[in-house]
Amino acid sequence: MMFKVPRGTKDLLPEETKSWQAVESLIRETCRLYRYEEIRTPIFEQTELFTRSVGDTTDIVQKEMYTFEDRGGRSVTLRPEGTAPVVRAFVEHKLFGLPNQPVKLYYMGPMFRYERQQAGRYRQFVQFGVEAIGSASPAIDAEVIALAMDVYQRAGLENLKLVINSLGDKETREAHREALIRHFEPSIGEFCSDCQKRLEKNPLRILDCKVDRDHPLMKTAPSLTDYLNEESAQYFNEVKAALESLGIAYEVDPNLVRGLDYYNHTAFEIMSTAKGFGAITTLCGGGRYNGLSEEIGGPEAPGIGFAMSIERLLMALEAEGVKLGNEDSPDAFIVALDDRSRREAVRLLGELRAAGVTADMDYLGRKMKAQMKAADRIGARSVIVIGEDELEKGSASVKNMAEGTQELVPFGEIAKTVKQIS
Ligand code: ATP
Ligand code: MG
Repeated sequence: MMFKVPRGTKDLLPEETKSWQAVESLIRETCRLYRYEEIRTPIFEQTELFTRSVGDTTDIVQKEMYTFEDRGGRSVTLRPEGTAPVVRAFVEHKLFGLPNQPVKLYYMGPMFRYERQQAGRYRQFVQFGVEAIGSASPAIDAEVIALAMDVYQRAGLENLKLVINSLGDKETREAHREALIRHFEPSIGEFCSDCQKRLEKNPLRILDCKVDRDHPLMKTAPSLTDYLNEESAQYFNEVKAALESLGIAYEVDPNLVRGLDYYNHTAFEIMSTAKGFGAITTLCGGGRYNGLSEEIGGPEAPGIGFAMSIERLLMALEAEGVKLGNEDSPDAFIVALDDRSRREAVRLLGELRAAGVTADMDYLGRKMKAQMKAADRIGARSVIVIGEDELEKGSASVKNMAEGTQELVPFGEIAKTVKQIS
């Protein structure tokens, strides 16, 4: 029987982990600049955390969660997203009591959603996200958006589009909700069964429906923008002004509503406009979630964050032809010609590595020519040859591969010589 990687997941072989690691370091470095610190929460949580916070009319809760009963009869769920766990940890560990507010956190790790497999959509994927909790200043909304844009730009992407919208506050949402119900109710029979359920529970979700997106009533639906009260409109204006002062271009899309229930005020998405990026163009989504902390039993703690998957970031890099994480060729490769030389090679290899030299040797007992070929293939900058003659002299021949020169070097000085060549 042959086993295969589960549907919707993938193995990352060394060829790919190189670019993953490059992206991961760039993300950590950017977070350090903006002073966001890493938080790591468990891979699974109590199911109710997600049904309460993400919302039971959302795609995630309705059809995408990996939920199961553990042996103790508790319902647990593999985390489908990062915000609810982070806010849960924020509340549980009373981070609202820390002297430094807002609390600025980032996470990076696997998320799980039972989705139909397609390009850019996996059942296990890695999300990087940030959460700034404890401030209701529009300036921090702009900071969070800037951080996301910065990650993409530092990675080398050029074809990016930032789209923002305001979902307003509770009052705004309530007025808009009434208008949506009035708009859709007479023809709700023409919509999918999910939308029919959404009409009463959360009509805003209808606008985000992937099945009925081309229904004519979608285009004429009442826009949130027309229902923003003065306070919400003012807030939105300040976010836009802060983006402008950071020199970040954006488009306002009044139809942008995010997939999760807990958003209010600022919502945003970053898309790739690269040719050949495919049907899914969203790289990153985020928004403000004032009220989420209270929803899960915490104190008032307004927050904003975003999440992006590394998979889609790498897809965008590929579409733009950007390569990250160059080959790292070793400083040295040891070619040993007989058993005694091989024993010396083992010792020397230990010494080189202790001195910080990246080095390798032949482990297949190959002939000299094949060993030289192996050294060449991995791009070794120097090749150290040990044979009977060399052993006699307590030295090895060190070959500078770039220049084609060669010299006899006493064993004690090989590390130094190789470092000079690299
Ligand atoms: P979509 O509309 O594409 O389903 P979403 O609203 O479900 O997106 P979010 O929950 O906001 O997405 O997740 C934020 C980001 O995580 C997305 O913009 C995308 O980059 C990434 N993402 C979401 N689902 C997947 C997945 N199944 N595979 C890979 N990346 C994903
Ligand atoms: Mg989705």
